[in-house]
Amino acid sequence: MSIAARLHQLQGQIAAAAVAAKRDPASINLVAVSKTRSPAMIREAFAAGQHDFGENYLQEALVKMASLADLPIRWHFIGNLQANKTRVVAEQFDWLHTLSRLRVAERLNAQRPPERSPLNVCVQVNIDDEPSKAGLSVAEVPAFVRALAMLPRLRCRGLMVIPKPTTDPEQQHATFMRVAALQQQLQAEGWSLDTLSMGMSQDFFAAIAAGSTMLRIGTAIFVEP
Ligand SMILES: *Cc1c(COP(=O)(O)O)cnc(C)c1O
Repeated sequence: MSIAARLHQLQGQIAAAAVAAKRDPASINLVAVSKTRSPAMIREAFAAGQHDFGENYLQEALVKMASLADLPIRWHFIGNLQANKTRVVAEQFDWLHTLSRLRVAERLNAQRPPERSPLNVCVQVNIDDEPSKAGLSVAEVPAFVRALAMLPRLRCRGLMVIPKPTTDPEQQHATFMRVAALQQQLQAEGWSLDTLSMGMSQDFFAAIAAGSTMLRIGTAIFVEP
């Protein structure tokens, strides 16, 4: 099956999951996670109508972005970002999904070029309190969102989560619902957040049921089953 055919199949599954959740399929955006995939594969997906791509590793991303500069791709950085690597993200990306440190946020705010719109960011939540994983605890998120509001070159869009992997759909759903509840709590406090970045190849159905607005999917697009 070609990348175009897998994308088409995935779009059908996303639409079906949206309908099952009584949601508008157009409210769910797809970021194609292209880490380790070649520029030729990204071109193929772009030609099939996929315009948002997510990368995890900066060095790899920059090489590929340079060779794809002729395409109007929206680039999302979804990997861990060290404070000394913020400049290229501020200059070249449209979204950062993994923000959880104020020092990184302040640097991005200072480095975002004036001619570009504010950098879209999501706050990463370590929803399962895994010591090995990046992100803030649920309790830490509200104060962090408040701090981001002081940084005009960043636009806080919502929350992002990478749950502990499980194949149990009910457990997947319960975890995503806790993220959705946190988002609703923040909205009730007056923050206009419109993005829940959650759902990957193995759990996007549960993520959509819980209110995801941005799926990050790689394997289901780029890998032959
Ligand atoms: C790799 C990755 C994905 C995509 O995972 P798949 O299982 O390949 O769909 C999503 N989000 C992050 C942060 C990733 O690193």
